[in-house]
Amino acid sequence: MLTIHDKTFVPFIAARDIQQRVAELATQINRDYHDKQPLMVVVLKGAVLFAADLFKQLTMPCEITFLRVSSYQKTASTGHVRQLLGLSEPITDRDVIVVEDIVDTGLTLGDVCDQLRESRPASLTVATLLFKPEALQRQLQLDYVGFEIENRFVVGYGLDYDGLGRNTKDIFVLSE
Ligand code: 5GP
Repeated sequence: MLTIHDKTFVPFIAARDIQQRVAELATQINRDYHDKQPLMVVVLKGAVLFAADLFKQLTMPCEITFLRVSSYQKTASTGHVRQLLGLSEPITDRDVIVVEDIVDTGLTLGDVCDQLRESRPASLTVATLLFKPEALQRQLQLDYVGFEIENRFVVGYGLDYDGLGRNTKDIFVLSE
């Protein structure tokens, strides 16, 4: 069990299962990009642990960079259009893999992809650790999905509740 502020979270996805699934996604990406030099664009902060575990299992020459979008407010999505901040690498003509922690409404990732496409990458795919299909509000192509989960609030392995809870190896879910 995990308590953060006023909320209690219970175990949901074990570290072992996460690592196993990340290895499977890396195998897929290694196959799809074996003759390319992709640029991983990591959406801060939630995707950092996932991105690090994934990145070290890639076997082709590859690069990593980071961007930030305006953050999620506590347990409810703001639904506002987000600005991309801090992307330091040019992505024009690059094979970009966007790495996200979780796709909920899909509005954040949709904005990120729309804005990245304006810079004309050679290709753009998405890797997300978690996906809540029931919450999705816009059409999105998700190329590499770790786990499809029900529409509940999760923390851990990079994901936070009000800034805390990111530093765990397992993923926890808000207890009902
Ligand atoms: P979306 O725009 O898809 O609704 O939200 C995506 C962002 O909201 C994620 O990158 C993440 O920061 C946050 N988010 C969505 N669902 C959850 C959740 O269950 N737990 C946590 N900690 N963050 C979430």
